[in-house]
Amino acid sequence: MALCSVEQVKQLALTSITTCIADSDKCGKPVTLEHSFVGSALYVKWVCDSGHVSNTWCSQPILNRRLHSGDFRLAMAIVTSGNNFGKIEMLGKHLNLKMLSRTSFFQIQGHYIVPTIDDFWKDHQTRVLDSIRNKEIVVLGDGRNDSPGYCAQYCTYTLMDSETKKILTIKTVDKRETDGKSPRMETEGFRRAMSDLLQKGINVKEVVTDAHTGIGAVMKGTYPALSHSHDIWHAAKNLSKKLTKLGSLRKHAALQKWTKDIVNHFWFTCRTATDHRQFVELLRGVLHHITGDHEWALGCCQHGELSDSDRNKPWLDAREDSDTIKELANILLHPRLLSKVKHYLNFRSTADLEVFHQHILMYCAKRYAYTPPVYRIRNVLAALDHNFHLGRSVKTKPDGQIQYHRCFNKKSGRWTVFPVKEEKDYSYLKDLTLQALLKRMQDRRGMKRSRDLEDADPRRIARTIMGQAPPPTAQLAAEQVSRFSGTPAFSSN
Ligand SMILES: [Zn+2]
Ligand SMILES: [Zn+2]
Repeated sequence: MALCSVEQVKQLALTSITTCIADSDKCGKPVTLEHSFVGSALYVKWVCDSGHVSNTWCSQPILNRRLHSGDFRLAMAIVTSGNNFGKIEMLGKHLNLKMLSRTSFFQIQGHYIVPTIDDFWKDHQTRVLDSIRNKEIVVLGDGRNDSPGYCAQYCTYTLMDSETKKILTIKTVDKRETDGKSPRMETEGFRRAMSDLLQKGINVKEVVTDAHTGIGAVMKGTYPALSHSHDIWHAAKNLSKKLTKLGSLRKHAALQKWTKDIVNHFWFTCRTATDHRQFVELLRGVLHHITGDHEWALGCCQHGELSDSDRNKPWLDAREDSDTIKELANILLHPRLLSKVKHYLNFRSTADLEVFHQHILMYCAKRYAYTPPVYRIRNVLAALDHNFHLGRSVKTKPDGQIQYHRCFNKKSGRWTVFPVKEEKDYSYLKDLTLQALLKRMQDRRGMKRSRDLEDADPRRIARTIMGQAPPPTAQLAAEQVSRFSGTPAFSSN
């Protein structure tokens, strides 16, 4: 496809026909060109003085039921590139480029694009799941809200295969499906994603999430046979916060210099320990180490020779700083922390999933209202993009070094670094677009008919997320006018 100005097209048109070729009365008069637009398509007509039409031409092929293929392709590309109609419509206005109408866009999206992407994902998911069917799978799980905290309308819950990094399932939950309570969406999403995988016969043996309490309860109650690991990074960050708080008290200030070492030791412990007893023993060791005691009655430090900077750091004094050491022991050996040890022993991380969740932003812009089906397929598009582009090779600098890219996740506050890969080719979009076109070509009823809400559409629960229908606009306007003019909206007489 190409961008053509109407004048250029007309110049070209005049090279084909210059005089009237209507054969009724061998007219032969010179023709002029008339043009018009239908959606994004340009029509050119060769007309003479007597009103004979020698030829008409359209800039786009026409699909069944007179739908212009350019309109269809444009609607498809707006969605698959993660754009919004309003933005592209604005682009058209600024460029004086004809666009399909808003109505056509939403009809095409609803009737053809949404169901095609759903089907495409179903096929893709089946293939991905078939490829791991005979293995025991460790899944990484995390939820992403469309906006922070209590005002979120949607939550996306994703389960990723920890080995291949493929998205295995992705579920979106609407606030209306959890009684209007945003914080419950993540648990509901987890439930749906898990039952999707298990129903499809995937042999999940371990689930890795952050320490979300709702999800912990589902794992205990519904999936007691599966192991549940926590993202170590979250646990380490929690510990770091507690240590920093303790060290900020003047009498425990000696701890400040050790906070980082203690957190590192926590990482080491998670990586090394294979059972609860060993974990506690290893972790406890740091209480000796920070006093300069590297061999004690029941154990010893695992580090080799200490570096100069380590040696020159002032050790805590077992007697003078005994309060600090006691408080530190309270944190490290706190029953709540120790009750979680089983979640740390496999030493897992959900960082890869966070990077994917950042990527969803490309398909679902914030501050833009999507209907539940459109929100769903936009998340699915992100998952397809991720899965199809996993195998790309890593980009290297001229000197052969790998280039890295960093990614910040707001929810966890974590920076993740990953290698920059070769450009994406989006080759799957060809198939996807073809399937959408086929869906249209096979449609004998056209798209002007209204669409029923899907059975599971949350709008069946409540029309808006406020849980009740909004007041009519006219009423709101009247109230606002009266508020500013100072006259009461409802007078008593
Ligand atoms: Zn004529
Ligand atoms: Zn030591």
